[in-house]
Order: sequence, then structure tokens, then C-alpha cells
Amino acid sequence: MTENEVNQEQASEKYKYSFDYIQHKLEGKKDSFGMLMKEIVRTGICTQCGTCAAVCPVLEWDHLAGEPKLIGKCTGCGICYNQCPRTITDPHQLIGEFKSGYVANTNIPEVIGYQDGGTVTSLICYLFDEHLIDAAIVTMKDPKNPWHPVPQIITSKDDAIKAAGSIYCHSQTVDALMEAVRQDYRSIAFVGTPCNIDAVNKMFSSPAGMLKYFMRAHILTIGLFCMDSFSPEALYPYFKKDGIDLEKVVKMDINKGKFHLYYDEDGEPVKSYTIKSLDKFKSSSCNFCTDLTSENADISVGSVGSGPNKNTVFARTGIGAELLEDAAKKGYLTIEPFDAINLNAVFFLAKLKKVAQYNIQKRKVFIVRDVEEEEEPKIETKKEEKELDIKPIIDSRRAISLKKEVNEEAKTLELSITNTIGFILEDLKIRIASIDEVFEKNVWVTKITELFPYESIEIDYPLEEDGELQLGKVLIEASTESIGKIYSKTYDLSPKK
Ligand SMILES: Cc1cc2nc3c(=O)[nH]c(=O)nc-3n(C[C@H](O)[C@H](O)[C@H](O)COP(=O)(O)OP(=O)(O)OC[C@H]3O[C@@H](n4cnc5c(N)ncnc54)[C@H](O)[C@@H]3O)c2cc1C
Ligand code: SF4
Ligand code: SF4
Ligand code: SF4
Repeated sequence: MTENEVNQEQASEKYKYSFDYIQHKLEGKKDSFGMLMKEIVRTGICTQCGTCAAVCPVLEWDHLAGEPKLIGKCTGCGICYNQCPRTITDPHQLIGEFKSGYVANTNIPEVIGYQDGGTVTSLICYLFDEHLIDAAIVTMKDPKNPWHPVPQIITSKDDAIKAAGSIYCHSQTVDALMEAVRQDYRSIAFVGTPCNIDAVNKMFSSPAGMLKYFMRAHILTIGLFCMDSFSPEALYPYFKKDGIDLEKVVKMDINKGKFHLYYDEDGEPVKSYTIKSLDKFKSSSCNFCTDLTSENADISVGSVGSGPNKNTVFARTGIGAELLEDAAKKGYLTIEPFDAINLNAVFFLAKLKKVAQYNIQKRKVFIVRDVEEEEEPKIETKKEEKELDIKPIIDSRRAISLKKEVNEEAKTLELSITNTIGFILEDLKIRIASIDEVFEKNVWVTKITELFPYESIEIDYPLEEDGELQLGKVLIEASTESIGKIYSKTYDLSPKK
């Protein structure tokens, strides 16, 4: 064996050792190359550092596409995912710092089985009974406007119980907090979503913060977990149109990707929707929010990870931990140790929220122009011009991806077109036509000057004729001047027989 071969073998042994070692440490984790592609590469936040390809024997760097490429069988070990500078893999980055974590549930009979474990309400009851607070800021339902949130100053345990339950809309809780400070309440428990908690913290810590200057109250922050909230003006009319009587709804609950509405707290939901189907009613600010678990609260309380009628709780400050344990000692709550939490479920949701904003680069367009305005000459003979510049050699089938959905209400075909190649697609032309027998009709053309890597644009194509929805065959083509045709497919939208 030559000296060179010996060196190579030793290097490969060393490499194998470190690969196996990390692989062993990551055993059971589900992070994979697929996730790296979905969260980092396809969203366009990959820095092209090449680390993923450098650490894995079945990955290589695709210089043309500017992304890692699989050249063998991926075992799903997650090593590439865990080296990437853009992935979030440190638990503290996902759910913030905390002193201790618990699974908790109430022991107060009136609170059992209401929202989740009833931990928030029980804590407030304990704080009032022990005279540790003189007011709490909660959110109640508007009696005149069903399920609209009204932030409230409360001063009794009975009102805390009346305020139990989640309303999945923004509540202007800080307004009630400032009113409580003005009314000279000195010790206040404040319940809010992560964005509410951030507002209070900023008012304490920013150089011009109102609570920093007029610090007359001690505030205990109880933060709720929050994935998203909805606009009541958009969501509730949709529910009503779907036959839901909001006056009869006693509980709303988001669980495992579904939004449930109940007429009877203990019964089955009267209606359930996938969260995805309600996405359009989501408050736009929530698309930019990265905090699931109220990372800056004294105590954070949620439901994910702890099963029915229980809460996942993080005590983040010394006072938070002390109060929780005392509430349990005095019988308001039952707390179980931290390892009872399904932390992976919490991490999964937290990660989903941290990376969700990477997908907000969609441009909504309706720049469709009737092709007839600018009809190309029917027959034109031209001398072929030799091109001096070399066209990129790409596999055109990989250049764009397309998602489509018929919007029956708007009578349109909603298309989301994504640039799936690692460079800008210039002068992209999307041509859409309805196919009637063998003829094209209703031809629309959209021109996009630049579509950035992994950027998506949305186009609505009208499916209407004389006011009626027309579902037939639709041809979708995409081309660019420099590459030529990169997509051509006919879809049959006719209802399945
Ligand atoms: C908009 C929103 C989104 C949420 N998303 C998730 C999620 O994705 N995953 C998850 O695990 N948990 C989520 N939660 C938290 C969950 O719904 C429960 O609030 C939490 O688990 C506490 O349960 P509990 O049984 O202790 O609540 P309870 O004891 O019933 O106490 C709930 C407290 O929240 C207050 N409240 C109700 N609505 C609001 C509001 N809009 N703003 C501020 N305060 C309010 C009430 O006044 C009450 O004091 C969300 C809550 C909200 C408000
Ligand atoms: S084998 Fe492991 S390191 Fe390689 S691509 Fe698959 S998940 Fe990534
Ligand atoms: S390690 Fe991450 S950032 Fe670097 S090239 Fe791979 S996917 Fe891109
Ligand atoms: S998702 Fe973020 S911005 Fe939206 S309500 Fe929850 S904490 Fe606030």
C-alpha cells in the first residue's frame, strides 16, 4: 500500500468514526435530508455553504442548481440537518429558557374539562386566595357579540372561573393592564398570548417603556402557547355561513391541526375544520410570529405535548416556579414531572412556527392579460440567429413546481407556481388556456420579470363563462426566453364521475 493510500484509509476511518458517533447521538430523531430540503433549501434560505454535502457520503454539491444533491440512499440519520447553519436544532432556540417544566391540571371542580388542564384559571384562583395579587387581566367573551374577545380587569376568583376558555383572536389585553395600573392596582397577574407578553416586557425594558417610567405595579406574566389567531370579522361569518350558531357554541379548541367547535363541552364537536382550510382567516401578523411557547413569560402554559385535560407548563423565572409549586402544594393543581411531557410534539410545533415565516415570499398576482391583445403573427419565417451565449443546461422538468386548487366560490383556478431551481427565472411567461375539444379558448398570459429561487407566485385563472363555473380541461404552460418551454401539462378539472 502506498503512503497516499494509507493516509486516505486513515482519513476515511476517522471520518467514519465521527459520522457514526453523531449518528448514534441523534438516534430516534426524525430530522432528515427531506426536512433540510423542505425547510431550508426550498424556502430559499440556504446559504450554499455546502456543509450538508461535506458531511455525508451520499450527498454532493450540485453546482448548477446551487443545492445539495442525493447520489445514494439516504438513511434519514439527520446528520446533514444538524450541521446546517440555518436549521434550528437547539431546544432553547425552539422554546426558550426555563427553570422547570411540568404537566399540570386543575383540582378545582368548576374548571375541570373546560379548556385544557385549567392550569391558568387555577393559578389565578390560588393567587387571589393567597392575596398575592389584587387584580388579574384576562380575556372574556363579549356578551353582546358572541365569541369576540374583551380584555377585562378582574378582582375575584369567581370572575377568573367565568373567564376560563380560549378565544382564538387577538385581545387588546395591554389596554386593560394600563387601566389597572391607572386604577392603582399594585400586584397584577397578566394572561396573554406571546405577542401580548412581549408588549409588556418591552414596556418594562425599552428605554422609553411606559412601565419602566411609571413602575407602580408588580406584574406576573402568564403566557399562553400560541400557534396563530384569527380575524373574527372574517372567521365568524364563515362559520355562520356554514350553519354554525355562535350563540350556541360553548367551546372552541385547536387540537392536532384541527379547529373544533362544541355546542356541548363534554360531547363531540358540532363541526371541525382543518387549520389549513382556515388559513385565509388567520391574522396576518401571526405569519411573522416565531414564538410558540411565550418564551418571555414568568410561566408559560399550553396544551400541546400533554394530552387531554392537561397542560404543558414551563416555569421560566424563580417566582414563576415558586408560585406553581406552592399552588400544587396547596391543592389547586396537580403537577407531574417534566418527563411526562411529550417534548418532541412541542419541539415539532415550535419548529414549524419558527420556520413558517420563511414561506412568506409569495406574490399574489392577477396580472393576466388576454392574449388576443398581443397576438403573435400567425406565420413568420425568420433567419435563425446563432446564439453566442450558452444557455444553461438544466433539466427543465425541475425548474418549476405547480400547485393548483379550484376555488368554486370565486370561480377561479388558484395556481401557486414555485421556482424550484437555484437561480432566478427571468422573463417567465405563464400561459393558461381552457381546452374545448381540440381548441384553446380563454387564453391568458402572465409575464413575470424575475422569479427568485424558491419564490412562489400565485395566479388566479378565471373559470367562469356567463357567470357559471366551467370545469373542463386546462392547459398550463411556462417558458422563459433563455431556456424555452419549461412546463406544459393539461389538467382535467371535470368533476370525477
Ligand atoms: C389565540 C390562541 C392560540 C393558541 N394556540 C395554541 C396552540 O397552538 N397550542 C397550544 O398548546 N396552546 C394554544 N393556546 C393555548 C390554549 O388554548 C390554552 O389557553 C392553554 O393551554 C391554557 O389552558 P388552560 O386550560 O389552563 O386555560 P384556562 O384555564 O381556560 O385559561 C385560559 C386563559 O386564557 C385567557 N384567554 C382566552 N383567550 C385569550 C386571548 N385571545 N388572548 C389572551 N388571553 C386569552 C382567558 O381569559 C383565561 O384566563 C392558544 C391560546 C390562544 C388564546
Ligand atoms: S444519510 Fe443522513 S446526512 Fe446523508 S442525506 Fe440522509 S439524513 Fe442527511
Ligand atoms: S448546510 Fe444548510 S445552508 Fe449550508 S448548503 Fe446545506 S442546506 Fe444550505
Ligand atoms: S401567533 Fe404570534 S402574533 Fe399571532 S396571536 Fe399568537 S403570539 Fe400573537
